[in-house]
This record gives sequence, C-alpha cells and structure tokens, in this order.
Amino acid sequence: MQVSFYGHVRQYHNLKAEIDANMQEVLESGQYVMGPMLKRFEKELAAYHGAKFAIGVGNGTDALWLSFMALGIGPGDECITTTNTFFATAEAIWIAGATAVFVDSDAKTNCIDPSKIEAAITPKTKAIVPVHLYGQCADMQAIRKIADKHKLFVIEDNAQAIGARGDGFRIGELSDAVCTSFIIQKNLGTFGDGGAVVTNNETVDREVRRLRNHGSGKRSCHSYGFNSRLDDLHAGILSAKLKQIDEMSALRRQWAARLTAGLGGARNFSLPFETPGYYHVFHLYVIETRKPEFRDPLLNFLVESGIDAKCHYPIAIHQQEGYPWGKQARIAGPIPNSERNAACCVSLPMYPELTEQEADYMIEKVLEWDQRVG
Ligand SMILES: *Cc1c(COP(=O)(O)O)cnc(C)c1O
Repeated sequence: MQVSFYGHVRQYHNLKAEIDANMQEVLESGQYVMGPMLKRFEKELAAYHGAKFAIGVGNGTDALWLSFMALGIGPGDECITTTNTFFATAEAIWIAGATAVFVDSDAKTNCIDPSKIEAAITPKTKAIVPVHLYGQCADMQAIRKIADKHKLFVIEDNAQAIGARGDGFRIGELSDAVCTSFIIQKNLGTFGDGGAVVTNNETVDREVRRLRNHGSGKRSCHSYGFNSRLDDLHAGILSAKLKQIDEMSALRRQWAARLTAGLGGARNFSLPFETPGYYHVFHLYVIETRKPEFRDPLLNFLVESGIDAKCHYPIAIHQQEGYPWGKQARIAGPIPNSERNAACCVSLPMYPELTEQEADYMIEKVLEWDQRVG
C-alpha cells in the first residue's frame, strides 16, 4: 500500500463544486487583484478569528515581516523565538532587519518554553514570536504575561494551526498580530502561495495594507512599500475551503486519535502531546524516536513500506550550514529540547482525507519497526 504525504487532490475533488464556482466568479468578474473576492475572504477570515481585521498578503513569510515592519520592528531590535521551526520564522525577522534570539522549546509540546523567555530579554528586545508548531498553540497566556511585564509585542506564527485553541484563549486574542500561510500543504491551503495577517490592532491593519501594495493608502499616493498581495483567485479557493476548515480539523483530530490509540503500546518512540484543555489541529502528526540513531532507520523503513513519512524539521535553524550567515542571530543559552526534536522527529502522513486502511497500515508498519528494535 502507498500512503501519500499529501491529500491535496482528494481535497480538491471533495470541494470541487464550491472551489470551481468561486474561481469562475473571479474569472467572470474581470477583477483579479485587490478585487471583491479578496475583500470577501478578508472579511470571512477576520470573522473566523473573531478579530477586527484580516489582510491578505503574498505568503506566510511576508505576513510575518510585514507585521514586524508595521509594528516598527527593525535594525537594532531583537525578536525572541525558537529554532525548531520552519526556516521562514527566523528569515522574516532578518528581512525586517532585526536580530533573532533563540530560546529552547518545551520538551513535550515543542513550542517555545515560556520559562526560558525572560532570561533572553535585553533592552533591545521588541517582540516574542511564538510558533504554534505542528498545529498546537504555544502557551499564549504565559507569553502574554511576560510581554505585558516587559512591554513587548507578540506576533503569532500561525502558519500551522488555523482553527486551534488554547485552554481559555483563541488565536489572535492575546497577540498584536497573527501570521498565516496558505501554501498548499498548510491546513488551509490554496493551489499555490498565499498568506494573511489577522489583527485587532488598527496600526497593523493600516500599515500592512499599505506596505503590501507599494506603500499606497490612497490611489497614486505612495510611501515606502512592497508588492505582496493575495490574488483574488486564491482568495476564492480559500473562501471555499474556509467554510470546511472546522470539519477538516475535526477529521485530522480523528485520525490523530486513531494513530495514538493504535501506537500507544510502543516502546521506541513517543507520541504527540496535546496540552490538556487545548484543541490541537494536527497540521503534522510527529512522533519522536527514543534515540536519535533510531530516526533514520524508522524513516527508511516507512518509506520502503510505501509510507511517505518525512521530518519536520531535521535540521534546526541554528544547525543549518553557514549559520548565522553573517545575519544577526544568537542562541540565548542551551537548547537541548529543540535539538532533540530535530534529531528524533518523524512526521507520519496526516490530512483530513486519509482512509481507515491507510491509518491502520501506518500503525501496523510503525509497530512492526518498534518490535524489531525491541
Ligand atoms: C509555512 C511556514 C511559514 C512560511 O510560510 P510561506 O507561505 O511558505 O512563506 C512560516 N512559518 C512556519 C512555522 C511555517 O510552517
């Protein structure tokens, strides 16, 4: 049996009528850039988050650095984040001209460990950038407390966790900006690239709106800006998918529960941890081998068995070749949890369109490997 890592085409077939209708509407309208479909999707996305504003941009990386820039974060400033994330989190800090300061992640959730943040704060610190890794919220309540005490911004990297919740908080409720990616493999993905900033902050809304469109707030009037827009065709695809996002998250949780139940007795890896009271949306289902030297054998065994497993992310940012590339980056103290996560992670295929046969085949094969290791 073959288990693909992605369910994009199945998802398209399931939602074909709605997606095609929206694309047709855009094509017939003649308005493809900054048109009515983008406005409609921005409204829907803001409403989905219970937030005042949403601004479509070119991709998730742009959503991050445009938010930093809108908040006045730039050269000489520091942003605190983690290294066990997709590279773009740090990249966006550098694009804005600021310095990335890395602290360790929590051993169980793999999100930023709030207890490590205060020791990394300096007079230059401007923001904390938590990543809701794998589809689970970071501890935003603890992060907000630290941010309030030290007067810092909080910008959520929410490329992976649209629809997730914490215990008593929603995404966007405790931050200055939420940055989302709509590249195809994300939980809400278009057929290409896209991103958005969701915020309750009027300055962020006004500035990101201006910066994404050549620094123009009013026709023919420009100041410093860029070109980073979300096309109306993508907005139409995303609008159709947004209506289904909660059902799709529920399906991800159902498959995660099935895998977790099936793999429960294994000895040589640990399973994803869901913080009690949180609603994890399983962008990725990541297990961690008990020892780093088990990781590649497990990965190879699964791939040979037809299961397209991957690693997110096998090389942490501070372990990439050439780090820090002359850019401004530093590690505030040891980060053993992020390093263990990078060395031991294996992502099993996870998407709403999995089948029972596929899930059970994954369980069978992972357990077979576990028994071989002993
Ligand atoms: C995907 C991702 C991004 C970047 O999104 P793009 O749309 O590819 O620019 C940023 N941060 C995290 C954690 C991501 O997973």
